[in-house]
Amino acid sequence: MSNRIVIGEVEIKPGEKKTINLPLPDLYTSSNIDMPVHVINGIEEGPTVFISAAMHGNEINGVEIIHRLIKSNEMKNLKGTLIAVPVVNVYGFIAQSRYLPDRRDLNRSFPGSGKGSMASRLAYLFMHEIVRKCTHGIDLHTGAIGRTNLPQIRAQLDLGMEIKKMACAFGAPVVMDSKKLLDGSLRKAARKHNIPILLYEAGEALRFDEMSIKIGVSGVINVLQFLGMLTSEGSHCDISKKPLLATSSNWVRAPQSGILRAVAEVGTHVEEGEVIGIVSDPFGENEEQVLATACGIIIGRTKLPLVYEGEALFHIAHFHEPSGVIKALEALRNKHRGSM
Ligand SMILES: [Zn+2]
Repeated sequence: MSNRIVIGEVEIKPGEKKTINLPLPDLYTSSNIDMPVHVINGIEEGPTVFISAAMHGNEINGVEIIHRLIKSNEMKNLKGTLIAVPVVNVYGFIAQSRYLPDRRDLNRSFPGSGKGSMASRLAYLFMHEIVRKCTHGIDLHTGAIGRTNLPQIRAQLDLGMEIKKMACAFGAPVVMDSKKLLDGSLRKAARKHNIPILLYEAGEALRFDEMSIKIGVSGVINVLQFLGMLTSEGSHCDISKKPLLATSSNWVRAPQSGILRAVAEVGTHVEEGEVIGIVSDPFGENEEQVLATACGIIIGRTKLPLVYEGEALFHIAHFHEPSGVIKALEALRNKHRGSM
């Protein structure tokens, strides 16, 4: 396998680093728009991996993860090829929005078509110029607007041992097995071509969360080490022996409309029936408790206290050993706290 790679008709030879601007449809002001792509091609051959962020234009933690990754000294001795795309949905990033100007969700528009809608064309370009040229990928996301997620890896673990090991190697406190992939998602489209993709979810839209960023940077480096692209300390792991794999998850919804006072934060271990929030009217009359519907760890929650009946408030993941997740989380906090 030769490491010669061509993106947007630009060739990046082994030992070269280049930034390529892939042209996208102009703005209606007639201004030109490009998708910036940074390629680091190692001298020695190896896998070709893409790292992408801001597929949803307002999910920006990943943009910072890629920024720090590219600057990191670790990348100097890379084997194989790293293709970094910090802003996939450039239009959404400019508008600080999850969506594209045609109000479509890019991550529901794959594999796309060169003759389709705006979203479909952008998905097609990303699929053909980046994803199809890669052997593996990591797509960086955050919670939607007003929602935060505990750092977690989502992957289709039934794809085989390699994706299991990648998911485990990342070292996030939680791994979720995505048994069903959404139609039009990047991961569903990549699955058809047997390209394993990890999805990292951490923090909140339109915010930088330092811990999520640090766990993300070290997580990507860990995966590149696992793939043999960076010198490894040899910490390969077996996901079946790790307590961090969630068996399932569920959302706890608002019992009534009102103002939410959340009691439990992300990363908290809760028991079934425990009070995790209170929803009331502005006078504090008509209070209703929000109860955990299962024992587990809160891996996501709304940050907006104004809620309607039925709205998803807390995301609880279930584990065989929730205490193992709490320990892993504590260890990660201690590891990354010192370097802040
Ligand atoms: Zn997203």
